[in-house]
Amino acid sequence: MFHTIYFSAVVFLFGLVVGSFNNVAIFRIPESKSLWTPRSFCPQCGKTIVWHDNLPLLSYAILHGQCRNCHESISARYPLVELITGLLYLAVFAKCGFTWKAELLPYLFMVTVLVIVSVIDIQMQIIPNKIIYPAIPIGLAAMGIVALVRGDGNIILRSLIGFAIGAVPLGLLALLIPKGMGMGDAKLAAFTGIFLGYYQAIALFFGFLLGSILGILLMVLGGKGRKSRIPFGPYLAAGALIALFWGPAIWDFYRNLF
Ligand SMILES: [Zn+2]
Repeated sequence: MFHTIYFSAVVFLFGLVVGSFNNVAIFRIPESKSLWTPRSFCPQCGKTIVWHDNLPLLSYAILHGQCRNCHESISARYPLVELITGLLYLAVFAKCGFTWKAELLPYLFMVTVLVIVSVIDIQMQIIPNKIIYPAIPIGLAAMGIVALVRGDGNIILRSLIGFAIGAVPLGLLALLIPKGMGMGDAKLAAFTGIFLGYYQAIALFFGFLLGSILGILLMVLGGKGRKSRIPFGPYLAAGALIALFWGPAIWDFYRNLF
């Protein structure tokens, strides 16, 4: 019991630190800037942020969401991304039964990429190839290691099937209706399929469901025309998380209906 709480706290704190890195990635990758240099700086006054003003969540609270130097307010996106990443890390650890299962690292990698890609897609309506292209072989390699550890080649087979379940339908949609779906969405769905296997079908189902419900809501509330492009990446990401955490339960429920 004590170990479970202790390790959960470690995983959550690790998630907060990665969340802090996610903020850097979200800010710098679309602008093709280095992730490692220069150190983090205030986007308003450009002053380098000292390490004790750069602690995930804590610094935002202590500084009341303001830069120490110029007192411009810091976007609430920063602590939000940190908190979401921390909570997702905790959820993945719980999904792995609070143990150091081989699947832990690949799943943590998947949720990290999903956070970065979703925020960039919301802000800029783009899913950068610079993220997805390296993420796909890393994901395949990570699942390959899981297959080796488990001595189960079917794991790789399921990853490839999941990849196809994500890539093929959305890739065809992107080719047929280029104005609706982007090729980036197909790549993202292919990426999550590596980790989800067959459950990528559930991810797609919920991605489309959430996308259409919220798309209609946005249209009604915001009076947005059908032409304004709605970023689909966050919905695919939400669908992938639903499939990751509840895929087997949803599949059992569905089978018991018939
Ligand atoms: Zn400043």
